[in-house]
Amino acid sequence: MTVRLPADLLPGPNDLWFLPLGGCGEIGMNLNLYGHDSRWLMVDCGVTFYNPLQPTASPITAEVQAADPTFIAKRKELLAGIIITHAHEDHIGALPFLWPRFGCPVYCTPFAAEILRRKIANSGLSQDMPIIEIPPGGTCNIGPFSINWLNITHSIPEPQALLISTAAGKVFHTADWKIDKAPMTGRPFKPQVFKRLAGQDITAMVCDSTNALKPGFSESETACYQGLYQVISAEKQRVVVSGFSSNIGRLISLGHIARRTGRYLALFGRAMENMVGAARACGYWPDDIPLIEPSHVGYLPANEVLVVATGSQGESRAALSRLAQHRHPHLLLEENDLVLFSAILIPGNEMLVSRLIAQLNMLKVRTLQSADSAELIHVSGHPNQGELDLLYRYVQPAIAVPVHGEAAHIQANAGVARAAGVPQQFTGQNGDLFVLAPQPRVWPQAVTAGRIAVEH
Ligand SMILES: [Zn+2]
Ligand SMILES: [Zn+2]
Repeated sequence: MTVRLPADLLPGPNDLWFLPLGGCGEIGMNLNLYGHDSRWLMVDCGVTFYNPLQPTASPITAEVQAADPTFIAKRKELLAGIIITHAHEDHIGALPFLWPRFGCPVYCTPFAAEILRRKIANSGLSQDMPIIEIPPGGTCNIGPFSINWLNITHSIPEPQALLISTAAGKVFHTADWKIDKAPMTGRPFKPQVFKRLAGQDITAMVCDSTNALKPGFSESETACYQGLYQVISAEKQRVVVSGFSSNIGRLISLGHIARRTGRYLALFGRAMENMVGAARACGYWPDDIPLIEPSHVGYLPANEVLVVATGSQGESRAALSRLAQHRHPHLLLEENDLVLFSAILIPGNEMLVSRLIAQLNMLKVRTLQSADSAELIHVSGHPNQGELDLLYRYVQPAIAVPVHGEAAHIQANAGVARAAGVPQQFTGQNGDLFVLAPQPRVWPQAVTAGRIAVEH
């Protein structure tokens, strides 16, 4: 008997399906669906930023884009809920714009909820979104899905992995993670949480592939703190650090460094202020790290200034670009000031960043990119091969489903899973239907996947 893909794509009571509409075969705009017993569960709803140097099959050229949600929007009465695993833009960014097409409850931790409420307030979008706050490490039931939220480590407060249990099987969805035994904020990585899953017959582990091409282990946020301290403590002039505004741990590190080196810390950029506001509201900003008003920075002696600025990827409207063009209202950089890039250079942004560096060098401002630095001034929030291997060995799933990566990352992650003894590895892309139970198989391109523009 030939097995056919059910035409209505409705999962039965014995089915457990995984259907990524975004973030599988690419990095960005994560949108995952799980199907069981006539219901769907969405995990994450993020954006991606258009990059003309990274061609995709999509003709959309809007600056901000999301996964095309048509498949699930057409079945919204079957969508039991939406889980947001953490507050990075590639996981949360599209939700305020797409939510009216879903209309169901949203589940997330308090920090992600705070970010979501700020996004909704800033954009003037629908205020009716029911946001249900789940404490980190908590549990909840959403339709036929029972969810255990599991504290993991990443580069933003309250990152959560998920154990999704159904009558047909269990999925361990890692979301974004790394093993950080000494994060600057939040709890250290606890192996026991994941070792416990080994006895639970995990059907599939859906896993972050971002750094699956890199051998070994990622470095801890604390090691990055020490590297940044080494560089900044040797400086006599102004120091500007540019990085990702959501990395509260990194900002806390810079706060401690400012105090230890007799500098005042100021934040330049709305995204940065917004994130720190949310961190404060949720109790993640230590009381002993003062911030000074950006407008006061210009009056300070050069050796007392530590500025954190948005715009590490060369974004033309961000604070760092304005500093590089002497267009910032609060600070004129001078000869011998130092700009540190405490961030990776995201592929495709090379031209923008080299233009930014040329502008800074014209002002005789020195620059240091993380890739050229002898000291560690940036660490990634994603797992290298050593960490992937460990987590597969802890959890011992029957099937590995690598996601959150381009095809090469996904293949590399599958290779690590195979070597770690995971019996089956399913690789695919957006729109593929991964049948996890009862008879595991992949239906390529079961659903039309694509991109849509997000109006900002
Ligand atoms: Zn991500
Ligand atoms: Zn993330």
